[in-house]
Amino acid sequence: MATLLGGIEAGGTKFVCAIGHSPNSILLEERFPTDDPESTLRRSLDFFLRAQKKFGPLSSLGIGSFGPIDLDVSSLTYGSVTSTPKLRWAGTQVVQAFTELGVPIAFDTDTNAAALGELYYGKGRGLDTLLYITVGTGVGGGIVVNRKPIHGLGHPEIGHIPIIPRKDDSFQGLCPFHGTCLEGMAAGPAIQARWGVPATDLPPDHQAWDLEAEYIAQGLWSFILTISPQKVILGGGVMHQPQLFPLIRSHLRRLLSGYVDRAEILEDNEDYISFPELGNFAGITGALVMAEQILREPSVGQKES
Ligand code: ADP
Ligand code: ZN
Repeated sequence: MATLLGGIEAGGTKFVCAIGHSPNSILLEERFPTDDPESTLRRSLDFFLRAQKKFGPLSSLGIGSFGPIDLDVSSLTYGSVTSTPKLRWAGTQVVQAFTELGVPIAFDTDTNAAALGELYYGKGRGLDTLLYITVGTGVGGGIVVNRKPIHGLGHPEIGHIPIIPRKDDSFQGLCPFHGTCLEGMAAGPAIQARWGVPATDLPPDHQAWDLEAEYIAQGLWSFILTISPQKVILGGGVMHQPQLFPLIRSHLRRLLSGYVDRAEILEDNEDYISFPELGNFAGITGALVMAEQILREPSVGQKES
């Protein structure tokens, strides 16, 4: 019987459910706004129950969820969203809501899923190591090394690294934990709070964008020296401002000062730091890749039952 992969991109704003015989050919998809946990997870489960009636039994499920999430398979709260301020989602058991499907379930962050999607089917095709950052309501990131998302104690939270505020920027930052971390200084809401208008209303030549690019480049300065990614993908609402890309590359070159002796960094390489190729499909494609990976390697990202 043909493999039938299921995927969920469980975002803080919207949910995407899909099935497909392979991650890049989706047979059926449904997108809906994230509401309270009970109704949102029920709607997702119903999607797969309906899909199974039409397309046959599901083989596995991959879930890329907004976070923070518990990825520790030895933990009682494995598979749940943990300390999020979002709606009533804190403590919600996400994986558990799908166990009645009776298939292996892979669970990871939405950004790790998006990074996987881009690595397998987007700009990262053929690569091993990729960094995916989203700059939207928050700043989040996924890191894939050796074609697998990285975990350890928990999952990367690269939006919360410290940055150095520019001398002409007195903004205190919006992060409730760290004030002026990358997310606190550069996410969409921080742009709006600093300049008094939504980021979408700022003209492309506004000075906001050079500052924004500098902060994102400061983040990349740390990430590139730590992870050494073969490519960097920058997505999310704020990155729909195309003027940011050359500004980011230029600030990054200045900050690294020639220390990384690679053409990808030293030249204005449009290929090295760029917008996701899969756009709105990066996360759901990655969730389907996770479903495929757990079929091949059942011990990855799955709780022993
Ligand atoms: P989310 O992070 O909630 O999934 P988005 O990635 O769309 O959603 O991020 C929303 C944030 O991005 C908002 O702060 C919004 O002002 C900003 N944003 C959305 N579109 C644009 C745009 N075209 N240019 C600049 N900022 C944008
Ligand atoms: Zn922070």
